[in-house]
Amino acid sequence: MPLKKYKAKRKFNQSPEPSLSSKKSRKPLQFVVQKHYASHLHYDFRLEMHGVLKSWAIPKGPSMNPHDKRLAVMVEDHPYDYKDFEGTIPPGNYGAGTVIIWDEGTYEPLNEKITEKILSKDLEQGHLSFKLHGHKLNGEFSLVKIKGRNYKASNSWLLVKKNDEFASTEDILKRDVSVRHDPSLEKKK
Ligand code: MN
Repeated sequence: MPLKKYKAKRKFNQSPEPSLSSKKSRKPLQFVVQKHYASHLHYDFRLEMHGVLKSWAIPKGPSMNPHDKRLAVMVEDHPYDYKDFEGTIPPGNYGAGTVIIWDEGTYEPLNEKITEKILSKDLEQGHLSFKLHGHKLNGEFSLVKIKGRNYKASNSWLLVKKNDEFASTEDILKRDVSVRHDPSLEKKK
């Protein structure tokens, strides 16, 4: 069953998070980065693929500096509708804390001929390269699975900015507000 892990972790009568993917995937492909003020602050990086959001939790957040390699822990697929979720997950629930949409936009595989099908093959092989068109994140990035013991079972990846015209040493995380900017959420953080 798709999204089985996602649904198993959550109580939808308590949490305002979406319970299913109602929208069919439409091009262009979407991405979202949600800043999640959970017990440990992290950034959830999500790429639309086959109608769900492939998801990684990035403890230190993304960087525009090609020298930074940011640990990205792959987590369960999230429903497509999750890209619109901003709100507060109540105490006692999985991932309790406030979520803001830190960045969002579209993404494309680096080679125009690459389809979603090939993208998911790349995902299986532990190497994805793509171009983001966001408000804060732009240009080419790679997600690379860390080689090592238990490679197959491991969820550890690295998010790395490629060296292109968007690369910069600016601390992008200082741009701290929601790109949709719901001021009521800023107070709850
Ligand atoms: Mn999270």
